[in-house]
Amino acid sequence: MTWVHYQLLTWCWIALGFLTFLYLLRVDAPFGRHTRTGWGPMIDNRAGWVLMEFTVLVVLYLTIGLSGGLTNSAVVLLILVLFTAHYIHRSLIFPHFLRTGGKQMPVVIVLSAMGFNTMNGFLIGYYFSHFAVYPEFWMADWRFLLGISVFLTGAWINVKADYYLIRLRKPGETGYKIPRGGWFNYLSCPNHFGEILEWSGLALLSWSLPFATFTFWTAANLVPRALAHHAWYRSRFPDYPAARKAVFPFLL
Ligand code: NDP
Repeated sequence: MTWVHYQLLTWCWIALGFLTFLYLLRVDAPFGRHTRTGWGPMIDNRAGWVLMEFTVLVVLYLTIGLSGGLTNSAVVLLILVLFTAHYIHRSLIFPHFLRTGGKQMPVVIVLSAMGFNTMNGFLIGYYFSHFAVYPEFWMADWRFLLGISVFLTGAWINVKADYYLIRLRKPGETGYKIPRGGWFNYLSCPNHFGEILEWSGLALLSWSLPFATFTFWTAANLVPRALAHHAWYRSRFPDYPAARKAVFPFLL
């Protein structure tokens, strides 16, 4: 595939991401607190997370392997290490700690997330084995330095918020509580904010089309989800803090 074909494919993928965003603003993705019947066969929640999220690593490394390896650069290696670390945590560690007590999610959600991860894994793997070239001192460039700071900050906010939320339930509990303190003073979903920040940082430090696309798709998934969570909290808890925003501090 030439660079022109690659860009064309990516722009089609971005257009689909935009349509998905519009759809998700109208229909809450039915997993977690929004799980409901009418979405076909169901699968165990933890197994769903593993299947959905491990897919991206399989496709990424298959694409790199079949392409004959990476473009030769320490920057490319570092980018892949950061990406892989995130997805090893998300697919193999995070599901292990969930306190979702036998909850299920629709197979269709797992399949659509696998589709999302397949395309993104392919676009990232193909780019970094065919097109990525970085100047010698890229690691001293402001984009790299700011990008890695934003990535690490986002990852920290994401992980801290996820484990705080998970621990709101004592073992065996199944309900929901109002999260409080730290970023939750400002946001209903700091975990989603952190994830968007994380990929924005990687897009900046890699200065690349596939990670800009990946960030766009992540926001297309997570902004509607955070808005749905926020509305859900407000409808369930009459004493929910009124000043709290959904996903972007002081904005939305
Ligand atoms: P949620 O905030 O909905 O849930 C996280 C965990 O905490 C779940 O186990 C949930 O239980 C539990 N939980 C959440 N709120 C409460 C509460 N108030 N009281 C008690 N328990 C609670 O996160 P998501 O499921 O939306 O996402 C999980 C992670 O995956 C996030 O880090 C997110 O950024 C990431 N993600 C990334 C996507 C992408 O496109 N890159 C897409 C989707 C998610 P339960 O499941 O029972 O609600």
